[in-house]
Amino acid sequence: MNEIATDVDWSTDSIIDKRDKYYAASQRAFVPYQKPLILKKGKMQYCWDEKGNKLTDLLGMNLCISVGHAHPAVVEAVTEQVKNLTHCTTMFHHPVPAHLAEELAATMPAGHEWVVHFTNSGAEAIDLAMMMSRAYTGNHDIIALRNSYHGATYGAQAVTGVHGFRHNVAQLSNITFAAEPNQYRGIFGEGTDPYLDEIDRTIAYTTSGALAAMLIEPVQGYGGIIPMPAGYMKGAAEKVRAAGGLMIIDEVQSGFGKTGDSMWCFDSHDVVPDIMIIAKGLGNGIPIGAVVVKKEIAESMAGKFIFHTYGANPVACAAARAVLRVIREDDMINNAKTVGAKLHEGLLQLKDRYDIIGDVRGRGFMQAVELVKDRDTKEPAPDHTAYVFERTREHGLILSKSGTFKNVLRMVPPLCLQMEDVQPVLDAYDRSFADLEKANLG
Ligand code: PMP
Repeated sequence: MNEIATDVDWSTDSIIDKRDKYYAASQRAFVPYQKPLILKKGKMQYCWDEKGNKLTDLLGMNLCISVGHAHPAVVEAVTEQVKNLTHCTTMFHHPVPAHLAEELAATMPAGHEWVVHFTNSGAEAIDLAMMMSRAYTGNHDIIALRNSYHGATYGAQAVTGVHGFRHNVAQLSNITFAAEPNQYRGIFGEGTDPYLDEIDRTIAYTTSGALAAMLIEPVQGYGGIIPMPAGYMKGAAEKVRAAGGLMIIDEVQSGFGKTGDSMWCFDSHDVVPDIMIIAKGLGNGIPIGAVVVKKEIAESMAGKFIFHTYGANPVACAAARAVLRVIREDDMINNAKTVGAKLHEGLLQLKDRYDIIGDVRGRGFMQAVELVKDRDTKEPAPDHTAYVFERTREHGLILSKSGTFKNVLRMVPPLCLQMEDVQPVLDAYDRSFADLEKANLG
């Protein structure tokens, strides 16, 4: 047998060597930076690489870090639970997941009984929501939006539309897509009504007419921060329900106060989901997802035992309880609103100075800068985006490139990003765009 290192080797060569040799190709496929970014430590909104360089984590580790890296309240809750009982299978009982279910139900709109099924990830929760919608309605057709992202399992991938995350090795039948109401480059231009008409057409032309569900992200995340316009989700819910279907709202990215308005983004859209999906920020980095669903819908699965081995893990649930408490006690949603507004204002000022910026959009801590070669034609500028993206890292930021054309810089920082972080972030952007002008990519 080969010798296996007992200590961790932090050298880039060793990490890349092992990765190339032992990671499956599917795991190696998604590495955005040219030079590997090796992270060693995180504290609240900051990370440090293995050489000690400090970076502001505007990605929140892909939105998993909701209240801050190594937030003391989460660390304490997790440590305490790990020491006492690291896992309790759902064949038996434990109070921590039971409390968390009650607390999550209490965040939902009054007038309904809400129940929770814990999973390990968002995609598993999406799969289960699809099953529930089919079981409850007796229908099979599901509509998703183009440019959507719902996860990497077989079912979740089949309702995913955004380019690069949808693979023909994982597709299901009875799933069709409606055009997303992208207000910047959507196929029907600006406004809500043309996109609601599109839902009618999608039901009429691509389904049996009897729906199981429609899935919507209130803000498409991997799709490049595309917020649903006012009235769209409410109108969509009316149409879907009239066709016998349920409204599945995917709050994996937009939830936990990320947009600075309320705990769940659907609250600002005057709509109540039948099923809500959450994950990522729920555990502040500890894997956990959940389906939060109206009780009568969940009852349609009675007797169908869906067993996620690690589901309702008490350590993950303890982390999640701490997250919910910290968001409330530290007034973090309001922080996302005010700090996010300042960041947005600064990004708009950069747009005035750099023609390459075609659009600045977002609310709270879901912000995006879309780069185009020409503001009139809106031709995407993926190479310029890749260049700026690399430079922002050199200037101390972690963010991501998103969207079907990979021309959107996406910022989704932890809820603890502070007002004093805003100017350094804007300066880093400014320097990166100035570098781009000097590089003269054409
Ligand atoms: N829905 C949305 C909106 C997401 O962004 C993601 C993950 N990026 C998922 C679902 C799937 O979650 P997970 O990766 O935990 O399976």
